[in-house]
Amino acid sequence: MAVVRTTTTTRNPVYGPLQYLKGVGPWRAQVLGKLELHTIRDLLYHLPRDYQDRSTIKKISQLAFNETTTIQGQVKGVRVVPGWGRGRRWGRGGILEVLVADDTGTIAATWFNMAFLKNKFKIGDEVLLFGRIHERGHLQIINPEFDILSSRGGDEGGDEGESGSDGKHEHKAEHKHNNKRGEVDERHEIHETRAAEPSLSSKGGIVPIYPLTEGIKQHYLRQLIRRALDDYGSHLEEILPEGLIKSRELVPIRRAMEDAHSPESMDALEPARRRFAYEEIFLFQAALAIRRQKIHTEPGNAFRIGEKIDAHIRGRFPFRLTVAQERVVKEIREDMEGPAPMNRLLQGDVGSGKTVVALYALLAAVANGYQAALMVPTEVLAGQHSRTVDKYLAGSKVRTLLLVGGSSQKQRKENLSKIKAGEVDLVIGTHALVSKDVEFKRLGMVVVDEQHKFGVLQRAYLRHKGTRPDVLVMTATPIPRSLSLTLFGDLDISIIDQLPPGRTPVQTEWVTKKMEGQTYGLIREELKKGRQVFVVYPLVEESEKLDLKSATEGAETFRQEFPEFKTGLLHGRLKQDVKDVIMNDFRQKEIDILVSTIVIEVGIDIPNATVMVIEHAERFGLAQLHQLRGRVGRSGERSYCLLFADPKSADSRSRLQTIVNCGDGFRIAEEDLRIRGPGAFFGTRQHGMPDYRVADLTRDVALLKTARDDAFKMVENDPALSKYPLLKKTVLDRYTSRIILSHVV
Ligand code: ADP
Ligand code: MG
Repeated sequence: MAVVRTTTTTRNPVYGPLQYLKGVGPWRAQVLGKLELHTIRDLLYHLPRDYQDRSTIKKISQLAFNETTTIQGQVKGVRVVPGWGRGRRWGRGGILEVLVADDTGTIAATWFNMAFLKNKFKIGDEVLLFGRIHERGHLQIINPEFDILSSRGGDEGGDEGESGSDGKHEHKAEHKHNNKRGEVDERHEIHETRAAEPSLSSKGGIVPIYPLTEGIKQHYLRQLIRRALDDYGSHLEEILPEGLIKSRELVPIRRAMEDAHSPESMDALEPARRRFAYEEIFLFQAALAIRRQKIHTEPGNAFRIGEKIDAHIRGRFPFRLTVAQERVVKEIREDMEGPAPMNRLLQGDVGSGKTVVALYALLAAVANGYQAALMVPTEVLAGQHSRTVDKYLAGSKVRTLLLVGGSSQKQRKENLSKIKAGEVDLVIGTHALVSKDVEFKRLGMVVVDEQHKFGVLQRAYLRHKGTRPDVLVMTATPIPRSLSLTLFGDLDISIIDQLPPGRTPVQTEWVTKKMEGQTYGLIREELKKGRQVFVVYPLVEESEKLDLKSATEGAETFRQEFPEFKTGLLHGRLKQDVKDVIMNDFRQKEIDILVSTIVIEVGIDIPNATVMVIEHAERFGLAQLHQLRGRVGRSGERSYCLLFADPKSADSRSRLQTIVNCGDGFRIAEEDLRIRGPGAFFGTRQHGMPDYRVADLTRDVALLKTARDDAFKMVENDPALSKYPLLKKTVLDRYTSRIILSHVV
């Protein structure tokens, strides 16, 4: 194991610009910049996304028909054969045939419709092919992934070191099934491989595969990183605290770096990966810990919520709070009464009554003479909340205002001046709330609903509008613990884990084509009882037009099927006032069946609706389905969620089964995360997600917890990180600009 130096001189050459590394000129430095590689250290941290185990290369003479395998040989001939009489249909065309030979035989590598690859191969090139073996008169490997190991004439600059590594034509490390039989031969083979490409010096035949960008080739990057490791590897400094390296049994940085880029064996990879995953999480969590520490130590508003205020607010609600709501109200009260600003996340399943709890906090602030703001993701929802609040507040002195994007210039100006003058106590709005021109007189409490639709950024902006206001964020759907720690790790967490009394579980059915008739019967029964029905169509990513079409046709189907009832159509393209009218009609029971695209996803509260029909249910994420299902079952009545679905894959079948069988949002969220991964879980990655490259939030949950605890403990003991200057610098460099720390000052 390398001895770790802890010097932190900024003169350390690994922080030097890449441009000065041999093999990188100004032009290449620029291209590497596209991969965010600027310094030598960046380059070293450009870890492989995969590996290729070349120790399993097979001899051509040993190939069996239909097996999928890796072979290596020399290019003996390249030709393009026109397509079999289908003329131009081959498009970019024809069939490319490359003859490849090793010392035991010859095989034809054949690519259909990819003749444009022709120039990649030159006679004499050493190539690696991966694919399935066919026999059509002669031995063939069809559409193989390929990697050109060495070109004739050498390639210091790496220009010729081609590999189709745009992700389509390359090897995956998966095929590491060992071929015991040929072991001796293969060892020999590897030796030759190395001789053929002296620059690669992969150990044990394991070759790294790096993420690339246009203009940068696999072979070049391998050489470059190898060189950086050889020349600068010894300058790498340990950024993690020594004690943690030991207690968490982490591989020290230099060893880990060497093993990540050129492992001796596949077994060496996991410890190295674990170290980098830990480091990544640790740094991000340290940033969150610093942010949290700052918020907690800055003076905020200490509200007073005595018995009188408390009783007054409760008196506004037409029901008693549940035990879970009571617990959370207590947590919120303690935060509000404390000197530091509240910074809390409220999680709870759909319909668990988060809004009411939030309202408690908002009103408590207003009762203390502050302004309060509630920010929600959609205008429909803002409208609904505003109505709910007005209902609760009927006859009170609290002045509320709805601020959404759609209002006229004049109206908006008027609203803004009221907010600024303090003539409004409670503002409910969309992201229009965070725009620059919105100024408050005395903002003391901010509630952000459906948090993950907003980013850390918006949260920070809104916080900035007040004099260190208390902040409560609520999530639309439960979030797996691993993710909430990651996303909201700077927040304290409250959970409402109980539904209000009198709810019956929503009966969820998966409806196939055959069952549709029967299902319409059930819907008719409900309509006859005076209940209402939601019908939701999925959003088709690329095409708003298509969405509209399917929803429009859907509405037509329902109109024909249920002529005696009124069907309305709501979609994203309608103007706000039209949307409002439709929603209002539905609320007033002027409309019985509301067909819509996903706009109703979040938060809509219409207790009289007892049927939720979801068309193409297989296209929704689990969390979304659960959220939609939560729109019904809000009264004591039996409710139904009908999933119209015709899933094609086993995967989507199992997803549907999950939603049918499981009513617990937290469990569904875990499952959704497991199936779709953290990126897809939130729809996009732009919402303040840390861009973990190594850590895997589904696999590394335990590591996440450990690294988080360690980071928080470290910051608690040493908030200025004075003992770890290098670590501090790294955290600040990496995260200050990424909003996490910048707005906290
Ligand atoms: P969430 O925001 O968590 O999805 P809401 O706050 O919208 O849930 O509450 C869902 C429904 O339950 C609303 O109709 C609300 O009036 C009602 N509700 C909330 N808390 C209670 C309670 N303690 N007892 C009875 N009904 C409640
Ligand atoms: Mg809600």
